[in-house]
Amino acid sequence: MSDLVTIKDKQFKPYISQQQISEAVKKIATSINNELKNDQPLFLVVLNGSFMFAADLLKEVSIPCEISFIKVASYHGTTSSGTVTELIGLSEDITGRTVIIVEDIVDTGITLEKLITVLKRKNVKQIKVATVLLKPDSYKKEFTIDYYGMKIPNDFVIGYGLDYDGLGRNLKEIYVLA
Ligand code: 5GP
Repeated sequence: MSDLVTIKDKQFKPYISQQQISEAVKKIATSINNELKNDQPLFLVVLNGSFMFAADLLKEVSIPCEISFIKVASYHGTTSSGTVTELIGLSEDITGRTVIIVEDIVDTGITLEKLITVLKRKNVKQIKVATVLLKPDSYKKEFTIDYYGMKIPNDFVIGYGLDYDGLGRNLKEIYVLA
Protein backbone atom coordinates (compact mmCIF):
# COMPACT_ATOMS: atom_id res chain seq x y z
CA MET A 1 0.00 0.00 0.00
CA SER A 2 1.08 3.55 -0.58
CA ASP A 3 1.96 6.13 2.05
CA LEU A 4 0.32 9.12 3.67
CA VAL A 5 -1.68 11.46 1.48
CA THR A 6 -2.31 15.11 2.21
CA ILE A 7 -5.62 16.60 1.19
CA LYS A 8 -6.02 20.27 1.93
CA ASP A 9 -5.21 20.69 5.62
CA LYS A 10 -5.38 17.02 6.62
CA GLN A 11 -3.24 13.91 6.40
CA PHE A 12 -4.70 10.49 5.74
CA LYS A 13 -3.09 7.07 6.13
CA PRO A 14 -3.82 3.83 4.25
CA TYR A 15 -6.67 1.92 5.86
CA ILE A 16 -8.30 -0.60 3.52
CA SER A 17 -6.24 -1.96 0.63
CA GLN A 18 -7.32 -2.44 -2.97
CA GLN A 19 -7.25 -6.19 -2.46
CA GLN A 20 -9.45 -6.04 0.63
CA ILE A 21 -11.90 -3.80 -1.20
CA SER A 22 -11.92 -6.10 -4.21
CA GLU A 23 -12.63 -9.16 -2.05
CA ALA A 24 -15.44 -7.35 -0.22
CA VAL A 25 -17.02 -6.20 -3.49
CA LYS A 26 -16.84 -9.73 -4.96
CA LYS A 27 -18.49 -11.13 -1.83
CA ILE A 28 -21.39 -8.68 -2.21
CA ALA A 29 -21.76 -9.50 -5.93
CA THR A 30 -21.80 -13.23 -5.21
CA SER A 31 -24.59 -12.82 -2.66
CA ILE A 32 -26.63 -10.70 -5.06
CA ASN A 33 -26.07 -13.16 -7.91
CA ASN A 34 -27.28 -16.01 -5.72
CA GLU A 35 -30.19 -14.30 -3.99
CA LEU A 36 -31.72 -12.11 -6.69
CA LYS A 37 -31.22 -14.10 -9.88
CA ASN A 38 -34.95 -14.28 -10.61
CA ASP A 39 -35.73 -10.65 -9.78
CA GLN A 40 -34.06 -8.64 -12.56
CA PRO A 41 -33.14 -5.98 -10.00
CA LEU A 42 -32.71 -2.29 -10.69
CA PHE A 43 -29.51 -0.94 -9.16
CA LEU A 44 -29.94 2.63 -7.99
CA VAL A 45 -26.46 4.09 -7.66
CA VAL A 46 -26.43 7.04 -5.27
CA LEU A 47 -24.06 9.68 -6.62
CA ASN A 48 -21.46 10.99 -6.17
CA GLY A 49 -19.69 8.73 -3.72
CA SER A 50 -20.82 5.35 -5.08
CA PHE A 51 -19.53 5.63 -8.62
CA MET A 52 -16.37 3.56 -8.09
CA PHE A 53 -18.06 0.86 -6.03
CA ALA A 54 -20.88 0.65 -8.57
CA ALA A 55 -18.46 0.17 -11.47
CA ASP A 56 -16.57 -2.61 -9.68
CA LEU A 57 -19.70 -4.26 -8.29
CA LEU A 58 -21.64 -4.31 -11.54
CA LYS A 59 -18.73 -5.93 -13.38
CA GLU A 60 -19.11 -8.87 -10.98
CA VAL A 61 -22.91 -9.03 -11.15
CA SER A 62 -23.83 -11.67 -13.71
CA ILE A 63 -27.63 -11.76 -13.41
CA PRO A 64 -30.00 -9.74 -15.63
CA CYS A 65 -30.25 -6.25 -14.14
CA GLU A 66 -30.70 -2.58 -14.88
CA ILE A 67 -28.65 0.32 -13.56
CA SER A 68 -29.66 3.89 -12.90
CA PHE A 69 -27.86 6.79 -11.24
CA ILE A 70 -29.59 9.11 -8.80
CA LYS A 71 -28.95 11.96 -6.43
CA VAL A 72 -30.85 12.61 -3.24
CA ALA A 73 -31.80 16.26 -2.77
CA SER A 74 -33.39 17.60 0.39
CA TYR A 75 -34.91 21.01 0.68
CA HIS A 76 -37.28 22.81 2.97
CA GLY A 77 -40.71 22.67 1.44
CA THR A 78 -44.10 23.84 2.54
CA THR A 79 -45.31 20.49 3.86
CA SER A 80 -46.04 19.91 7.53
CA SER A 81 -42.98 17.68 7.91
CA GLY A 82 -40.74 20.53 6.76
CA THR A 83 -38.16 18.75 4.66
CA VAL A 84 -38.92 17.41 1.22
CA THR A 85 -36.74 14.72 -0.28
CA GLU A 86 -36.51 14.44 -4.02
CA LEU A 87 -34.78 11.84 -6.15
CA ILE A 88 -33.03 13.37 -9.11
CA GLY A 89 -32.45 11.14 -12.10
CA LEU A 90 -34.99 8.38 -11.53
CA SER A 91 -36.86 8.05 -14.81
CA GLU A 92 -37.82 4.36 -14.63
CA ASP A 93 -41.20 3.12 -13.47
CA ILE A 94 -40.17 1.12 -10.42
CA THR A 95 -43.60 -0.25 -9.47
CA GLY A 96 -43.26 -3.89 -8.49
CA ARG A 97 -39.48 -3.90 -8.99
CA THR A 98 -36.67 -5.17 -6.80
CA VAL A 99 -34.48 -2.14 -6.19
CA ILE A 100 -30.92 -2.32 -4.85
CA ILE A 101 -29.65 0.94 -3.39
CA VAL A 102 -25.90 1.24 -4.00
CA GLU A 103 -24.20 3.42 -1.37
CA ASP A 104 -20.60 4.23 -0.57
CA ILE A 105 -21.00 4.35 3.20
CA VAL A 106 -23.82 4.14 5.71
CA ASP A 107 -23.11 6.27 8.76
CA THR A 108 -26.17 7.48 10.71
CA GLY A 109 -28.50 6.12 8.03
CA ILE A 110 -30.32 9.44 7.65
CA THR A 111 -29.63 9.61 3.91
CA LEU A 112 -30.76 6.03 3.48
CA GLU A 113 -33.93 6.60 5.46
CA LYS A 114 -34.92 9.51 3.23
CA LEU A 115 -34.25 7.49 0.12
CA ILE A 116 -36.15 4.43 1.33
CA THR A 117 -39.14 6.56 2.38
CA VAL A 118 -39.42 7.98 -1.15
CA LEU A 119 -38.96 4.57 -2.81
CA LYS A 120 -41.57 2.90 -0.62
CA ARG A 121 -44.17 5.39 -1.83
CA LYS A 122 -43.54 4.18 -5.37
CA ASN A 123 -44.82 0.67 -4.59
CA VAL A 124 -41.65 -1.25 -5.24
CA LYS A 125 -41.64 -5.00 -4.62
CA GLN A 126 -38.63 -4.94 -2.33
CA ILE A 127 -35.71 -2.69 -1.44
CA LYS A 128 -32.22 -4.04 -0.77
CA VAL A 129 -29.22 -2.01 0.36
CA ALA A 130 -25.60 -2.55 -0.73
CA THR A 131 -22.81 -0.43 0.71
CA VAL A 132 -19.03 -0.69 0.79
CA LEU A 133 -18.72 0.55 4.36
CA LEU A 134 -20.99 0.50 7.38
CA LYS A 135 -20.45 2.33 10.67
CA PRO A 136 -22.46 0.15 13.08
CA ASP A 137 -21.72 2.35 16.13
CA SER A 138 -23.38 5.24 14.35
CA TYR A 139 -26.15 3.42 12.48
CA LYS A 140 -29.31 3.31 14.58
CA LYS A 141 -32.02 2.96 11.93
CA GLU A 142 -34.25 -0.08 11.52
CA PHE A 143 -33.58 -0.92 7.87
CA THR A 144 -31.54 -4.01 7.26
CA ILE A 145 -28.26 -3.38 5.47
CA ASP A 146 -28.47 -6.46 3.27
CA TYR A 147 -25.02 -6.30 1.73
CA TYR A 148 -21.99 -4.51 3.15
CA GLY A 149 -18.31 -4.83 2.40
CA MET A 150 -16.85 -3.97 5.78
CA LYS A 151 -17.84 -2.60 9.15
CA ILE A 152 -15.64 0.24 10.40
CA PRO A 153 -15.53 2.35 13.58
CA ASN A 154 -16.71 5.97 13.57
CA ASP A 155 -13.62 7.27 11.77
CA PHE A 156 -13.62 9.66 8.83
CA VAL A 157 -12.46 7.88 5.71
CA ILE A 158 -11.78 8.94 2.13
CA GLY A 159 -10.95 7.31 -1.19
CA TYR A 160 -12.73 4.81 -3.40
CA GLY A 161 -15.37 7.40 -4.16
CA LEU A 162 -15.47 9.04 -0.73
CA ASP A 163 -14.34 12.65 -0.52
CA TYR A 164 -12.97 15.24 1.83
CA ASP A 165 -14.33 18.57 0.68
CA GLY A 166 -14.71 17.28 -2.86
CA LEU A 167 -11.22 15.79 -3.04
CA GLY A 168 -9.88 12.26 -2.70
CA ARG A 169 -12.64 10.38 -4.51
CA ASN A 170 -10.18 9.10 -7.09
CA LEU A 171 -7.94 7.26 -4.62
CA LYS A 172 -7.87 3.50 -5.28
CA GLU A 173 -7.64 2.61 -1.62
CA ILE A 174 -9.55 3.77 1.45
CA TYR A 175 -7.67 6.10 3.80
CA VAL A 176 -8.41 7.28 7.33
CA LEU A 177 -7.41 10.47 9.12
CA ALA A 178 -3.81 10.06 10.29
P1 5GP B 1 -25.53 9.18 6.81
O1 5GP B 1 -26.74 9.87 6.25
O2 5GP B 1 -25.64 7.67 6.81
O3 5GP B 1 -25.13 9.70 8.16
O4 5GP B 1 -24.31 9.57 5.93
C1 5GP B 1 -24.23 9.22 4.63
C2 5GP B 1 -23.30 10.11 3.86
O5 5GP B 1 -22.39 10.86 4.69
C3 5GP B 1 -22.44 9.25 2.98
O6 5GP B 1 -23.09 8.93 1.76
C4 5GP B 1 -21.21 10.11 2.82
O7 5GP B 1 -21.42 11.03 1.78
C5 5GP B 1 -21.10 10.86 4.14
N1 5GP B 1 -20.15 10.20 5.07
C6 5GP B 1 -20.44 9.52 6.19
N2 5GP B 1 -19.32 9.06 6.77
C7 5GP B 1 -18.29 9.44 5.97
C8 5GP B 1 -16.86 9.24 6.02
O8 5GP B 1 -16.28 8.61 6.91
N3 5GP B 1 -16.15 9.79 5.00
C9 5GP B 1 -16.71 10.49 3.98
N4 5GP B 1 -15.91 10.96 3.05
N5 5GP B 1 -18.05 10.69 3.91
C10 5GP B 1 -18.82 10.16 4.88
